This record gives sequence, C-alpha cells and structure tokens, in this order.
Amino acid sequence: MTYFVDVLLPIPLERFFTYQISPEEASYIQKGIRIAVPFGKSKIYTSLAVQVHQNPPEAYEAKEIHQILDDSPIITEVQFKHWQWVASYYMCTLGEVMRSALPSSLLLESETLIFPKDLETIEDTSLSDNEFLILEALRHQSSLRIAEIAAIIERKTVLPIVHQLVKKGIIALKEELHEKYRPKMVDYVRLAAKYDSEEGLEGILKELSRAKKQSHALLSFFQLQSSNKGPITLKQLQTESRATAAVIKALIAKGVFEKYQIRTDRVQFRTNDKMVANITFNAEQRQAFDAIKLAFDEKKVCLLHGVTSSGKTEVFIKLINEVLQDQKQVLYLLPEIALTAQLIHRMQSYFGNQVAIYHSKYSLDERVEVWNNVLDGNEKARVVVGARSALFLPFQELGLIVVDEEHEASFKQFDPAPRYHARDAAIVLANLHHSACVLGSATPSIESYYNVEQKKYGLATITRRYGEVLMPDIELVDIKEETRKKRMKGRFSERLITEISGCLEEKEQVILFQNRRGFAPIVECTTCGHVSQCPNCDVSLTYHQRRNQLRCHYCGYHIALLQSCQACGSNTLDTKGFGTEQIQEELTRLFPENSIARMDLDTTRGKHAYEKIITAFEQHEIDILVGTQMVTKGLDFRNVALVGVMNADTLLNFPDYRAHERSFQLLTQVAGRAGRTKKRGKVLIQSYNPYHQILHQVSNYDFEKMFGEQLYERGQFKYPPHIRIIKITLKDRDYNKLNEASDWFATSLRSMLKAQVLGPEYPAIARIRNQYLKNIIVKVDKQQSMAKTKNSIKRIEKSFNAISQYRSIRLVYNVDHI
Ligand code: ADP
Ligand code: ZN
Ligand code: ZN
Repeated sequence: MTYFVDVLLPIPLERFFTYQISPEEASYIQKGIRIAVPFGKSKIYTSLAVQVHQNPPEAYEAKEIHQILDDSPIITEVQFKHWQWVASYYMCTLGEVMRSALPSSLLLESETLIFPKDLETIEDTSLSDNEFLILEALRHQSSLRIAEIAAIIERKTVLPIVHQLVKKGIIALKEELHEKYRPKMVDYVRLAAKYDSEEGLEGILKELSRAKKQSHALLSFFQLQSSNKGPITLKQLQTESRATAAVIKALIAKGVFEKYQIRTDRVQFRTNDKMVANITFNAEQRQAFDAIKLAFDEKKVCLLHGVTSSGKTEVFIKLINEVLQDQKQVLYLLPEIALTAQLIHRMQSYFGNQVAIYHSKYSLDERVEVWNNVLDGNEKARVVVGARSALFLPFQELGLIVVDEEHEASFKQFDPAPRYHARDAAIVLANLHHSACVLGSATPSIESYYNVEQKKYGLATITRRYGEVLMPDIELVDIKEETRKKRMKGRFSERLITEISGCLEEKEQVILFQNRRGFAPIVECTTCGHVSQCPNCDVSLTYHQRRNQLRCHYCGYHIALLQSCQACGSNTLDTKGFGTEQIQEELTRLFPENSIARMDLDTTRGKHAYEKIITAFEQHEIDILVGTQMVTKGLDFRNVALVGVMNADTLLNFPDYRAHERSFQLLTQVAGRAGRTKKRGKVLIQSYNPYHQILHQVSNYDFEKMFGEQLYERGQFKYPPHIRIIKITLKDRDYNKLNEASDWFATSLRSMLKAQVLGPEYPAIARIRNQYLKNIIVKVDKQQSMAKTKNSIKRIEKSFNAISQYRSIRLVYNVDHI
C-alpha cells in the first residue's frame, strides 16, 4: 500500500502539496502535525499535515517527507476553519495565513539562520555528538543555515536537534537577535534593617535631632510608608519631603536608608492581589454589564460604548471572571500600541499568573511558550492579552473575546497578507467557538455603531466617568485670530501658554498632541518652491533636526540637510509645517525650568523605549509630554490636568473619506487623557478653523451627531458601511507596463462585475522603493454577493497572469481596505 499526505506549506500556493509516506507514518500522522518536507530544488519547509490518503498526485511525482516534527497536532480544527475563512475573505492563500499565524520558531526552514547565543558557558560533555558538531561549526562561523547543518551532521532530520538547542538556550534564530535590552531601573529607598525597631528608631531620631532637614525627610518617609503599602521610590520621598537629593544622599551615607533598584519596564508576573468580587459597579456599569449579558444570551456581539475612564475595563474584568469560572479561555485583544504595562498589570492584579501576554515585541521563546500553554489549556494562559496576532493562537475552548479600542485602524493588518481586520476576524473566531464577543470603545467605529443600528450587535452604554469625575472641559482656540492679533509665540497661542504655566505651577502634568513626527515635514525653497524628494519613492523628504538630515519615511533614504536649493541654488530653504521635535524645542525655550519629553516613532524605536517614557511620565520625571497618536491610547495618568492639541487642521484636512471619523476619535481619545481624578481636566484644541462641525461635536461629546452626519455623507458618496470596498493595488518597476496592465485589469473588472469600479488611479504616494503603484477600487453593494465578486476577480487574475508581459506585476488585494 502506498500512502500520501497532503500538507499546507507556509508559502503562497493555491493548493495543498502531496508527499509520499510509509504505512507507519500514515498511521501516525494526524491533521495539524508539523512535517518537514523538501520543496523546490533544495528547500526544506515546515508544513502542516492536512489529510492522509492513497491517491497519488496527478501532475507530479510525490516526494518523500523529511520527518515528522510533532507527537500531536499543534493547531486545532477550529483554527484551521478560521484560517480558511481569513484566506477566503481577505483573498489570500492559506499558506500566507499559516506563515503569519505561527511563531517563526515553529516554522523552521532550510533558509532559517541560526546564531550562537551562549557558547562560553557550555560544557561539551552535556552535548550529544551532533550538537557538538553544530557548535563547533558555530565557533568558526557566525551563523548557519538549517540546510548547512544538515550537511554538517550528514542527516536530513535536523529540526529536532535545532529545536533542542534553541530550548537549551545555546542558539537563537535570527529573528530573535534584537538589540541588547537594557531595562530601566527605578531607585527605591527603604529603612536599613537595624533601625527597623522602636529602639532603633528612637536612637536615630535623637541622632538626627540637629540635622533638621534629614529628620524631616525621615518623618516624611514614615508618612509615605503608612499611606501607601508598596515600596517607596526615591523620587516620591524627595517630592513628599521637599528635600534635596543631597539630604537623602546623606541619610543613605549614614546607613539610615538603603537605596535599591527595581526594574519597572518589564512586565513581571504578579500574584493577584485584587479580588474581582470586590469590584462594586456604579449604576451605569451595572446596566451596561446586564445589557452585555442580554446580548450574549441572544447570541449577539455587544458593543460597549463608554466614555473615556468610565470603567469599561472593570466591566470586562467581571465578564472575564465569569468565563474563567466556567473553565474557559479568554482572549483580550488590544491594538499593539495600547498594550501597555499598565493594562497588563491591571489584568495580572486580578487574574495573577493566569494572564499570558502575546505580541510582537516579545521574544520568540516567550511566544512559543504562550502558544503551547494555550494549546494545552494550561492554567498559565487562561486569559491571553494580546495584539492582533493573538487571534491565531490554538485556543481549546474560548468563552469570551474582548476587542478593546475596537475603532482602532491598526487592527487592520496592512502588509503582508493576510490583510485582515482583527476585530472582524475575532467575531468570526468567536462564532466558530460559540463564544461570546464584546467590543469596547469610547469612540466606536462607524461600522460597529451601524451594526448596532441594524440590530446586528447589542449595545451597552456608559455616559459618565467613574467616581463623579467630570469629562474634561474642551475649549477651541482660534489660531487664525490669534495670529492676526500677533498673540502667537511660535506654535503656541497665548491661551495655551497660560494654561500650561498654570498647570506647571500646580505641579500638574501636561500632554501636547501633535499629529506629525520629525522636526518639520518638508524643506522648501522660498525662492523657487522646490522641495527635496526621495529618489526611490514619490514623497517629500522630512527634515530631522537632531540628526540634521532629510529622511524618507517610507524607505529610510537619507541625506544631510542641504545648504542651498538643489534646483535654483539659492540659500533660501525654509522648514514648513511642524512636528513633535519642533514643538519640543519651542517648549524648552518657553519653559526652561521644566522637563520635557517626546513620544513618537523616533523616540520609541527600541524594544522598551515606549515603556520607559511612560514610566518616567508616571513617576513624574517628566512635566510635559509631547507626542503623536501614541499618547492617545489607553494611558491612565493620574496627574494630567491639561491636554493641548497643537493643530487639529492637519487631521481634518487629510484626503480620505474617514478623515472626519478619525479626527473625532483621535481628538476625543486624546482629550480623555486629561483630568482623570476629581479635579476637572482641561483640553485646548488649536485650529485655524474652529467652526468645523467635527470640532464642535468633539467639544460637546456628541458622538450621535457625528455618527448621523458621517453615515449620511457616506451614503451620499457610496462608502462603507453602506457598501464594501476591495482595493486592488498593482505594482511594478516599469511605469508604462504598469499603466497598461492596470488599464487591462480595470477594463476586465468593469465588464465582468456588477460592482462599481474606480480607477486605476495613482495613490497619493505613487512610487515606493522604486515600485510604481496604481490602485483600483471595487465598490460592492450590500445586495451583491461578496463571494461571487471575489470569484470573478480571481478569474480575471487568472487570465491576467496568463499574459506573459504582465508576469512581473505584483497584485495586492485589500478587502475592507481602511
Ligand atoms: P475605561 O476603560 O472606560 O477607560 P477604566 O476601567 O480604566 O475606564 O476606569 C477608570 C478608573 O476608574 C480606573 O482607575 C478604575 O480602576 C476606576 N474604576 C472603574 N470602575 C470602578 C469600580 N467599579 N470600582 C472601583 N474603581 C473603578
Ligand atoms: Zn530654489
Ligand atoms: Zn523613499
């Protein structure tokens, strides 16, 4: 008897691939087990078994497999179905879904690079012969491919050995070798052990009786100790006692205090020190909770629309708790950027070690560990808090999915395929598991709210902040008027400066939001109007002051700042527009006494840079934080009294049908960072056009009005949620060929589809990395079948691919493009 196995390969193939196996292998292999297989001339891939059968493939001679990698399946039947949905809905291959779903160390392949991690401390005796050979090779060569290892040990079956070495921490995969990570340490003080008694204390107080400042600091320490249970930071002690650093240093020198450090930026496992049972809802939270349960009973997704700081998270925590009592798993999805240590700590303080974190900044080892814990239904991963890729974990029995900040555009994967929307894919996953699903936001997406209106989703609302805290007072500042009256200092209106000064005097913190990074987006010649362009992409270069460079944000191209115009040679170059860096610089001049920090893509590149800024701000080491979108997400700072929006117009004028919705969301979210305690927060929004309807809706917290208007406009111009959009992008280096090909494609679409076809059109940035781009937009009415439309498009693609001169053209589908 000859047996065969169909496998799924992590590459964009339309079909499964078939290999020959022995009868023993056939009886062993189950669906979802990994198998290493040869593919192409010399490649090895990790594939997933799909089906064992006895039908040889027709078009080719089946090769033998290399080896079986697992004892039992590493993915579940439900996952498989979910992947299939993702592939078909988002028009990509199952292999592409597989590649993005599995952590890369579960996907070893012949091209994977292996690096030595820790060769010094290994005792050779602890190694097998083959392991020894591999390490010997790595002592002479900085890295090896899996295929090379196969040659070294003269065996085809190398993956188990490599896995073993990774597990032992001796080698690492290339993906893992990120920068060296230096944790941020925070200084703490404690009383030296010998004074930790009544007598000891009396002694030291007597001793210090003549050092007034020191004894005052000591007393402040006791006060702090009695008022907060946790450890006391050096900073806290200084603020509380108003002592100088020297005073405390003296006490440390005398051996009264001991200084020690705790790393704060690391997400540590904590035991649960809070009880869910102790959460008492206010009336609105209780109603919201009941409304959500009602929707669940009706098998509906529920949208929780609660203003910022209304206690949505606490509602989620109670829901999660109920699911855990049923022994089921919970997935808590957040946009990458909102996945902060704050939120994680909060979850851990209720659910302790049952909380597992899954996102791209975690190492591969950590991710594989979470994967296995979820697969085994282990206690350690009952609640998975993660970014969008956590959707692809091998859940056994999911009881609840929470999609927090559901309106966030970053839930949609842009590149590479699958270009899925995590919220929508989560709803499908919940269905497959018969699990409940709740979406949360202070500013729901038009789509979700529309689904509520259509009675597809349930709705729960919380209109007030928790604990009598008022919504911040939002004031619009007319900077056109202020400019006319010469009341602007740089980008700052007099109003804003006054408010900032007031806050700083009260020792309160300020957040300033600026929707651009870099010092100034472009450098323009005021004589001839020339703007330096990236030679590879169709965008202007951005000026970065710190490095004195012009940079391309798309491909990384950079040159030193020019002294004179490239076009006309005159030295009249002017920076136009403004970014976070410039705001920071102006602030330093306006408030030289205060500490000012910046949070944007440039300052948060390092693995933990983001957490470090947040921690510093939390610890009040920073008075004013200037930032981009990053400051708007889910952060809960107690001491922020003022939020300033430097310029709302760049948001409102963005050329996109979602610009108004986005502006509303962003401004409301950033305003929500202000005044989270009893004192009412203040928000100033600077704009050249303070009469814009969106700004009024933001300042009146009028979500309904915004929704109504936007929905109407989208109806007029045929945009989602009234219709669906499939965006097709064609890419090629050859400009003329691209034009011809996209015309061909669009013409075929028009003749085949009932749907409205727009384009082909160049996008705002028509060339990236030397590739020209052209977009075709297909608008599919709700009455038309999405599945049929996609099938027709795929058929057109087949004919397209058959035209030989178009072979080099890359086609990218983006379904529900946002
Ligand atoms: P949201 O998620 O809506 O922004 P949070 O859940 O973060 O709001 O709540 C805001 C603040 O109010 C948090 O500090 C939270 O601990 C507190 N809070 C909310 N609900 C309760 C409750 N029922 N009991 C005690 N504190 C609560
Ligand atoms: Zn010029
Ligand atoms: Zn570029």
